[in-house]
Amino acid sequence: MITIEALPAAHGDCLWVEWDDGPHQRRMLIDGGPGSTRSLPVGLAARFARQPEDQREFELVVCSHIDDDHIVGLLPLLTAPPKGLHVCEVWFNALEHTGPWDTLGVRSAERLTQVLHEGRFPWNTDTGGGPIVVPEKGPPTFPLRGLTLTLLSPRYKQLTALRTDWHKKTAVRSERDVLGGSAVPTAFDMRYLRELAARPYEADRTAANGSSIAFLAEHPDGSRVLFAADAHADVLVQSLHRLWHGNGYPVSLVKAPHHGSAHNVSAGLVAAVACGDWLFSTNGGRGHGARTRAGLSTHPTPEAVARILLRNGPAEDDSREPHTTFWFNHLTPSTERYAHPSLATLGLRTEYPKPGTDGIRVTVSEGRVVRGDGD
Ligand SMILES: [Zn+2]
Repeated sequence: MITIEALPAAHGDCLWVEWDDGPHQRRMLIDGGPGSTRSLPVGLAARFARQPEDQREFELVVCSHIDDDHIVGLLPLLTAPPKGLHVCEVWFNALEHTGPWDTLGVRSAERLTQVLHEGRFPWNTDTGGGPIVVPEKGPPTFPLRGLTLTLLSPRYKQLTALRTDWHKKTAVRSERDVLGGSAVPTAFDMRYLRELAARPYEADRTAANGSSIAFLAEHPDGSRVLFAADAHADVLVQSLHRLWHGNGYPVSLVKAPHHGSAHNVSAGLVAAVACGDWLFSTNGGRGHGARTRAGLSTHPTPEAVARILLRNGPAEDDSREPHTTFWFNHLTPSTERYAHPSLATLGLRTEYPKPGTDGIRVTVSEGRVVRGDGD
């Protein structure tokens, strides 16, 4: 059983993941969300408050990439660790992992690099201190206690691109996490879904997102979760095709890449996996309220949603059997629009945080996905 808590992290990611390993409960943290560099983000602080001090051992802490909505919350975690924190391994690709050492850098990433160089936490020891990267020969696996990770992203090409951007100091973005925009629909039908899905796909080209550490996590009970960070779709697809010839790799749950952006959830990616449960960590993106009011698209974008539904759904629009479930960690206009009854008739089921709360807990057991925080 793998339990994923998508903690409230505004427009970013902060995933607290636990699994059973015989009698033991193991855990890892993927990203820290946005926030202040001085104190833990509210969602993460509240989660630690619920965690007994003698159960704060993490097999792995991952900083997927250096965008503010993923990295910032990890700084207070590692500079002023909560009482009892024990971290067995940190995965983070710093500038030095993108090529020869250089002193240029971007603030949060530089700070994290500094902290890790102080040596209080084992850092990329799984690769002998080298980059966490998918080599040419294919996706490597990393056994944790009770869970196996298979790395899907980045490849060397994406790390090299990050290096170029890092020099220009354009790698880190805090304001431009929502790419592009399109009209926000109110009602959907099959024709409209097809129209959305047929819109030209424009791939995410940002170097920071491309450098995302993304992986599959597999539990011995058959549960398989794809943690896609903000990775580029084509990189994920290439790796998935190395693991499974052709499309339809069985995956229990996908944490949608880049908060469900149309530039990262490609038709190729949704075809590469066979998966009916998609988790979105987003409140819509920066400025989501104003954007939604202006009729602009925010995360997750309708094109991405249409691609997932058409891949999973029936050919006709008269089926009422749900075939896809979306899990959201925030209830905002940008996520709530997918609870529209017209989408339920197209087979979509939506799950939101319990009333009055943010964040959602999802349990994957023997490949089946259910709510882990009651209904
Ligand atoms: Zn992001």
